[in-house]
Amino acid sequence: NPTMSASLMWFRKGLRIHDNPALQHASTGSSFVYPVFVIDPHYMKPDPDAFSPGSKLAGLNRIRFMLESLVDLDSSLKKLGSKLLVLNGEPGEVLIRCLKEWDVKSLCFEYDTDPYYQALDARVKDYASSAGIEVFSPVSHTLFNPGAIIQKNGGKPPLTYQSFLKLAGEPSWASSPLSTSMSSLPPVGDVGNFACEISEVPTIKELGFGEVELDEWTPFRGGESEALKRLRESISDKKWVANFEKPKGDPSAFVKPATTVLSPYLKFGCLSSRYFYQCLQEVYKDVQKHTSPPVSLAGQLLWRDFFYTVAFGTPNFDRMKENKICKQIPWNDDDELLAAWREARTGYPWIDAIMVQLRKWGWMHHLARHCVACFLTRGDLFVHWEKGRDVFERLLIDSDWAINNGNWMWLSCSSFFYQYNRIYSPISFGKKYDPNGNYIRHFLPVLKDMPKEYIYEPWTAPKSVQTKAKCIIGRDYPKPVVSHDSASKECKRKLGEAYALSQKLNGRVTEEDLANLR
Ligand code: FAD
Repeated sequence: NPTMSASLMWFRKGLRIHDNPALQHASTGSSFVYPVFVIDPHYMKPDPDAFSPGSKLAGLNRIRFMLESLVDLDSSLKKLGSKLLVLNGEPGEVLIRCLKEWDVKSLCFEYDTDPYYQALDARVKDYASSAGIEVFSPVSHTLFNPGAIIQKNGGKPPLTYQSFLKLAGEPSWASSPLSTSMSSLPPVGDVGNFACEISEVPTIKELGFGEVELDEWTPFRGGESEALKRLRESISDKKWVANFEKPKGDPSAFVKPATTVLSPYLKFGCLSSRYFYQCLQEVYKDVQKHTSPPVSLAGQLLWRDFFYTVAFGTPNFDRMKENKICKQIPWNDDDELLAAWREARTGYPWIDAIMVQLRKWGWMHHLARHCVACFLTRGDLFVHWEKGRDVFERLLIDSDWAINNGNWMWLSCSSFFYQYNRIYSPISFGKKYDPNGNYIRHFLPVLKDMPKEYIYEPWTAPKSVQTKAKCIIGRDYPKPVVSHDSASKECKRKLGEAYALSQKLNGRVTEEDLANLR
């Protein structure tokens, strides 16, 4: 019956009702809307061999954050007269079966630039067009359309923030969020043969993660409601928003973090970046003076768009080989050093505390991320940035393909930033912000009684002090895995050589050249 048409709204990221053009399109002119989320084994299959609970690609904190976001979405959909249909399996297969079964006229989902979704979406779109189903896939995850910016630049992505801003035009050109909010949705249609496969949002246990428990869960709860609450709290302090200067934030602040902690909500699309951006513009209008990009809060959202654009326009963005924008560097493959870093046993309390925060919270301040990424790669251990990227990708609750890879290349001096002589000290950097070491004491309680003189370098504490602090270095807490002074000198030397070779060969460094540098 042509007057009784159905649409399918496929949720992946974009787990929200506000500013959701795909959902709005699905509900306009349709008699039924099927809101679907597919639990994808690619991300969700339990991996008993992983070094911490979770799947191969996602730690349990992020999985739980996502489930909370789905529960919140389902409850909002129910308030609008609909509900979320949760299915399991390879998303392409599941989706195509749904389209066949339900006589869908229109398939709606948010456009996604990540390679995994590009491939998946191409398959689903192919099927839809062969079956005469309309596909509506708007860009609403970013402020700008990455493809359009690349096109405007002659097919190449802009490689600096400033050139990105120029191409994007006036920051006020960022696309506006939808102005109308939804008051109701068409009902869910008959699900036919799928009835027994559709479930409520599963729990961690139902997903097969058994009885695993973390020693501490992230304090951040998933979902659009939480995102909007957090956004309102952040922007209610107009002075704070107006004066926000990213490099001045305190990376050791954990009771009240120095930044918004909206990243996990932006990652899953519980919060629209366009709505966030608009709220910031409103605050800026109300105050006399405010900071500007790149350091302002609006500037942070533009960094996000910058990395999305470069990532979308750069083949093999997530690796060193065959990646045109990535310097070829003879990183080593030292699994023991990697494990020491990952498991917070480098013997540098500032580094280890940050890695514990990563494991327990799935979130750390930007500068804290700088410190551990620099330490693992060009600063001290000379381990490949891809290895560190994998650890972040799995454990961060805001884990984001474009932003994570972009920042790892940045911090390892592989792209975007090349001043390899500027290395973060694992001792003095944190001390500037937190001379008493409260952050270390919180995340590494084994050091909680170490006097402040030694908290950043406990191996220098006399034995009597270690005994009194009930922390013997080498027994209760490790000795440093490397000496920062000599390791950082060696790193600079190797990077100098790699850069010189790259210049000599005009960037055409082969694997053999790299092997010779090792
Ligand atoms: P705020 O300062 O409040 O900024 C608001 C928003 O702007 C953030 O939520 C984020 O969406 C965006 N933003 C801020 N800084 C950056 C940046 N440098 N690049 C791109 N976008 C930015 N961020 C992620 O969202 N996912 C990642 O996987 C990720 N991996 C990182 C890996 C490394 C090695 C480094 C150094 C940084 C990484 N970041 C990542 C960027 C940044 O650290 C986080 O976005 C930020 O700390 C999140 O906290 P916030 O929401 O309080 O940020």
